[in-house]
Amino acid sequence: MKKILVLGAGGFIGNHLVNRLKQSNYYVVGIDLKYPEFNKSSCDEFAIGDLGDFNFCTKHITLAFDEIYQLAADMGGAGYIFTGENDFNIMHNSVRINLNVLDLAIKLQVKKIFYASSACIYPKYNQTNPDNPLCSEDSAYPADPDSEYGWEKLFSERLYLTAARNNNIDIRIARFHNVYGPFGIFNNGKEKAPAALCRKVAEAEDNTTIDIWGNGKQTRSFLYIDDCIDGILALMASNYTGPVNIGSEEKISINDFARLIAKVAGKKLGINNIAGPVGVNGRVSDNTVAKRELNWSPKYTLEQGITRTYNWIEEQLNVPVKTT
Ligand code: NAD
Repeated sequence: MKKILVLGAGGFIGNHLVNRLKQSNYYVVGIDLKYPEFNKSSCDEFAIGDLGDFNFCTKHITLAFDEIYQLAADMGGAGYIFTGENDFNIMHNSVRINLNVLDLAIKLQVKKIFYASSACIYPKYNQTNPDNPLCSEDSAYPADPDSEYGWEKLFSERLYLTAARNNNIDIRIARFHNVYGPFGIFNNGKEKAPAALCRKVAEAEDNTTIDIWGNGKQTRSFLYIDDCIDGILALMASNYTGPVNIGSEEKISINDFARLIAKVAGKKLGINNIAGPVGVNGRVSDNTVAKRELNWSPKYTLEQGITRTYNWIEEQLNVPVKTT
């Protein structure tokens, strides 16, 4: 039986990934600072602790795992990444995790590692036009990410690639673009735009307004969680060793995204654009490499994915169901 280690198994994507890996009957060990918030993890073993602490890692990463999925990172949405207050933690904590993981993976002769990178590595100068951002994998350099989070991801991509080059570990790197879905946090300050917008819409009275950070004209693409897990598994099964975008090519402005969620909720809501952290003007996945090398494309439209997500968040907030 394949033995698999999932780091960040208590997080949003890690938790969903563990569920999917267990469907294939693998033996799955999870590590995180916390358990998943909304369900019991299906890991066979789960250790709670700090992957930045090398002593903790040596106690809990002890097997020559067939595969490691490294998703643990100190991260959050715009309200966490762009305010500047968390910059040292974001860089320091995530680098430490990746150094520890690689030290032990080399020692234990782990065969294959998946590393979760991000679309935040792409340079600011290619994302100034909301209608035409450039995010192909080969546009990453000369580097100029818009956050320390992006710089850390870029450094760690390179760190994993050096382990592939010098230490004979098979490495796969995904650059995720805004992954969303049920069982993700929506109200602790680290939530990202889809969950935050669903929460605001769910909490708003009909015929009122909701606040949106920035002018709302900034564009993004959003990937439904089931598609993300399919993409991770397709990448791991492929022979492609360079970083690959795992995202959606369905571009939408943040104001239009809020309108879409209001439509899903059956509410008439105005939009009040206010000052707030927003990031680049435009960003959308370019899936040319994923289609060619992994034969992977998302299956869910944004409307399908956000409907499932909205319904789940509304349920969590215990909003009374409309009777008329
Ligand atoms: P998440 O925050 O839900 O999961 C990350 C997990 O890592 C958390 O459960 C956290 O507790 C854990 N963690 C952080 N520091 C740790 C430490 N020192 N020791 C042990 N565990 C620690 O985030 P997610 O959305 O599931 O993202 C997973 C990965 O994908 C992250 O590396 C993230 O940077 C990357 N990513 C996610 C997105 C997205 O849209 N969700 C986009 C781009 C990249």
